[in-house]
Amino acid sequence: MESNIFKNTQAFAQQLDAEDALRHFRERFYIPLVNGKECIYFTGNSLGLQPKTTQDYVLNELEDWANYGVEGHFHARTPWVSYHEIFPEIVAEIVGALPEEIVVMNQLTVNLHLLMISFYKPTQQRYKIICEAKAFPSDQYAFQSQALLHGLNPADVIIEVSPKEGRSYIETTDILEAIQQHGNETALVIFGGVNYYSGQVFDMPTICKAAHAAGAFCGFDLAHAAGNIALELHDWQVDFACWCSYKYLNSGPGGVAGAFIHEKHLSNTSITRLAGWWGHDKESRFKMDKTFQPIPTAEGWQLSNAPVLSMAAHKASLDVFKEAGIHHLVQKGKQLSAYLLFVLNEINATFSEKIIEVITPYNENERGCQVSLLMLKDGRKIFDALMQQGVIADWREPNVIRIAPVPLYNRFEDIYQFGQIIKKECTQ
Ligand SMILES: *Cc1c(COP(=O)(O)O)cnc(C)c1O
Repeated sequence: MESNIFKNTQAFAQQLDAEDALRHFRERFYIPLVNGKECIYFTGNSLGLQPKTTQDYVLNELEDWANYGVEGHFHARTPWVSYHEIFPEIVAEIVGALPEEIVVMNQLTVNLHLLMISFYKPTQQRYKIICEAKAFPSDQYAFQSQALLHGLNPADVIIEVSPKEGRSYIETTDILEAIQQHGNETALVIFGGVNYYSGQVFDMPTICKAAHAAGAFCGFDLAHAAGNIALELHDWQVDFACWCSYKYLNSGPGGVAGAFIHEKHLSNTSITRLAGWWGHDKESRFKMDKTFQPIPTAEGWQLSNAPVLSMAAHKASLDVFKEAGIHHLVQKGKQLSAYLLFVLNEINATFSEKIIEVITPYNENERGCQVSLLMLKDGRKIFDALMQQGVIADWREPNVIRIAPVPLYNRFEDIYQFGQIIKKECTQ
């Protein structure tokens, strides 16, 4: 779909919806009501909507718990002792990995720390962490505290790559320059797959290659990438990655998170880790031996037994992903954001001065479905009006509105309606 054939009309948006092979997936989700009407939900990048099957999946586990008590570990419909084993195959498809490279566990920031314990091993020579400026705050705190944990000063350790003067996002060459400049001293290069603020997709394979050429490990926080863009973690040779499941993966508030560790590291005993019993060899786990013997897959990084209720919600959502197909979803996500960019251009063109500056790259390879708008005029007023009229969007100080039309439940018509509200509010 080329943007030069788009039209900013309701009939055209409805036609795109009618031609959309994924349109029926919207009926699988609860769409929140605002003023008694289905809202236009553009915050699937923050908390994805609830699949209608989730309650049943969770209730099944509650029922099995009621019926079996502790015996549910072995006799539940999906036995809890091995519950996490239902995930690697489908999650591997979503992030482009081998099943043994995947484990579903904990929460995102916890996984980031666990993986940094394994892959951030500063020495006197190599101790720097190269990351994006304006990384999500939790990641910044994780990087700083990891430096402190090793007795280092975060200010010496952390190299933030910023956009060049006058640009709203980072160029790949800026990142490569930083890696080149600090290469000998760099222990870890870590970026978001998609920057949460600008929606920019980083060139992960190129970054990873450069990090390895410099002798550093390379990891990605995929909070805004998993379920949104095409990923090939295994082929890109990424060392590790982690993500949450409550954004594009629709698995509920604080849902269980995921982690990826590349095959080449799975049985490397020089890569140390924080250990727990659920990472221990399954055959001998209940012998309760003293010696930790890690499972030779990503599961070997598990600490605790599975949070089954939260995992049941994850399963409900992943079954929808499996049915829709991640590649179809990624394609529609790009089409939605392309249409949104077109509509925003149209709006800007109707005013004598530009009212919205898009800070997400226009290049299709550098964005997923999120588009971030820097509001040049009356930003907060327009945002409040949107919320009042049933558009749920996300406001970031000082003046940014993040809009994420997600392919599973958003329509092209949502984008058209959104554009109409903005246009109306700007003329008042
Ligand atoms: C959403 C998000 C988080 C949130 O971390 P939790 O541990 O899930 O609370 C962290 N990092 C990034 C990049 C995020 O987008």
